[in-house]
Amino acid sequence: MKLAVIPGDGIGPEVVKQGLKVLNAVAKKYKFEVETQDVLMGGIAIDKTGVPLQDETVKICKESDAVLLGAVGGEKWDKLPGNLRPEAGLLGIRKALGVYANLRPAVVFPQLKSASMLKEEALKDGLDIMIIRELTGGAYFGEKKRVQLEDGTYKAWDTMIYSTAEIERITHMAFGIAKKRINKLTLVDKANVLESSRLWREVVTDIAKQYPEVELNYMYVDNTSMQLIRNPSQFNVILTENTFGDIISDEASMITGSLGMLPSASLGDGNVGLYEPIHGSAPDIAGQDKANPIATIMSVAMMLRYSFNMLDAADDIEKAINKVLDKGYRTGDIAIEGTKVVGCEAMGDLIVGEI
Ligand code: NAD
Repeated sequence: MKLAVIPGDGIGPEVVKQGLKVLNAVAKKYKFEVETQDVLMGGIAIDKTGVPLQDETVKICKESDAVLLGAVGGEKWDKLPGNLRPEAGLLGIRKALGVYANLRPAVVFPQLKSASMLKEEALKDGLDIMIIRELTGGAYFGEKKRVQLEDGTYKAWDTMIYSTAEIERITHMAFGIAKKRINKLTLVDKANVLESSRLWREVVTDIAKQYPEVELNYMYVDNTSMQLIRNPSQFNVILTENTFGDIISDEASMITGSLGMLPSASLGDGNVGLYEPIHGSAPDIAGQDKANPIATIMSVAMMLRYSFNMLDAADDIEKAINKVLDKGYRTGDIAIEGTKVVGCEAMGDLIVGEI
């Protein structure tokens, strides 16, 4: 397994170190070799090379089997122009790898129900949702313009645009993922008013014929945002376009309680997947051994599952996390009375101990 590793800034290097520790433990158990190469991106790359993403980084990532990323950014680089900020590196690497689907699971660990923003009653059936968000199309990338009117005021527009091909490729991916779970897929759109949503419905409905074992249903995005709070366990896999996915995936993440628990994967047709926790570089706790490494460790599990089809190894990691939580160990962000607070490094060691 050839892995490009982007530790990044702030807590990025701390959580990535724990992710790799767990990966190495799994590699030993399942007898495979991991070869890693650290590459620069984000603020640290700006400091060392003047730009957030060098061609060399892109080249190494493209030649790898997968990329593991910590987080980038920090106040130090906030005043730089947009194209030279750490986040430009993030958008640049996603674009370079052609990753058009962002997978964000929202899982509530039974041990952490009390950390959720929802009443326990709403989570009585547990929560295990996979949101698949289109990442490179729609209003964020369509034609955008601002013009000044005669009276001095402005008119501005962003175009929500999708082609059949863009919808098809992510739809096949979504059905594939639904098949690996419980054969249930919800397409979230606004087909009652948006033409692009109507195209999504037509294309997805047509492709569904190739996956008769998967139950497909449709839901408007406004209703979805309400249902996620009212009865989140009705969902399993959600497929949606870029803007809607951006909003509902953040909504779903709050149901689960802590940013430090949420992994993500970005995939495309190329062979290289990008795996990262959804949180940022958390400058307020960086360098203090306080970060929760579980989001990154779960990102490693996603990598094994989606890039390498090593389902048992991925399950092993998730079981190990569960066991450690069962034993009452918590990092500060998820600690409650009666639990044992440990640091980032110790949490990594405890999870390794259960592999
Ligand atoms: P953040 O996610 O870094 O932190 C928000 C809050 O959550 C902070 O209080 C932080 O301490 C806490 N937190 C985050 N991850 C945690 C973890 N693993 N364990 C324990 N607590 C955790 O968001 P922010 O403060 O808005 O942004 C900080 C920097 O990160 C900014 O420069 C921002 O641009 C960048 N950022 C990067 C990414 C990325 O690299 N993908 C994503 C979001 C933000």
